[in-house]
Amino acid sequence: MSYPIAPGGLAAVLAHPDDESFGCAGALALAHDAGRTTRLLVATRGEAGTSDGSPDPAIAGQREAELICAARAIGLDEVSLLDGYPDGGVADQPFDRLVDDIAAWLADRRPAAVITFGPHGVTGHPDHIVVGNATRWAVERLSDLGIAPNAVYVISPVFDPAGNRYDLSAEEQAATHRIAITSVATRKADALACHESQSDVAEELAALRSAIDSGAPIHEGYHRVRPIVPAPHPDFDAVLI
Ligand SMILES: [Zn+2]
Repeated sequence: MSYPIAPGGLAAVLAHPDDESFGCAGALALAHDAGRTTRLLVATRGEAGTSDGSPDPAIAGQREAELICAARAIGLDEVSLLDGYPDGGVADQPFDRLVDDIAAWLADRRPAAVITFGPHGVTGHPDHIVVGNATRWAVERLSDLGIAPNAVYVISPVFDPAGNRYDLSAEEQAATHRIAITSVATRKADALACHESQSDVAEELAALRSAIDSGAPIHEGYHRVRPIVPAPHPDFDAVLI
């Protein structure tokens, strides 16, 4: 990870170490391979990722190391962690502060496109939902300053090899973009495998490896939510940036 890093590119704003590997590792890896700057902002250190969900500061360090491992597999140029947002309690913190923090991070880096969570946050986790909402408010604030990214996408996991396991919002159900990630799928698997402290990774990883072994095309789905003018038709087999 060398500095300085060029502005622009593709940025993901997510809640926990491992969200990137479940959610958008393929699109980030493709953007990296296309020579784009790739960045990730994570709101928490994942200290509640314990077997019983009770926070353990000792695990935060392990999860940060797992995140760096995943970032290397994907090809991220920069990973940032916010301070002051407890894992599982992001929604209890002042929403305006979260918007401020995300807006400041985006304003410094000026990504051309941003990926975040949609209204149900894929799994329904409150941290996912509030980070997605705050990111979209942050972009509105940057728009007022004339420095908004060109596009905002929310993760639409409808093409996930492990299946569509969650209640999703209308936005998340309706992918406007289907990205073929077959060429980088092994890196997505490698990134998932980095998060070995997380028991729910195993099912996702098994499904992805099975899809890789089958030789079938593998996709990630996204719904472009900004600009708010809808695409005339789903832009399948496209790229985000
Ligand atoms: Zn998460």
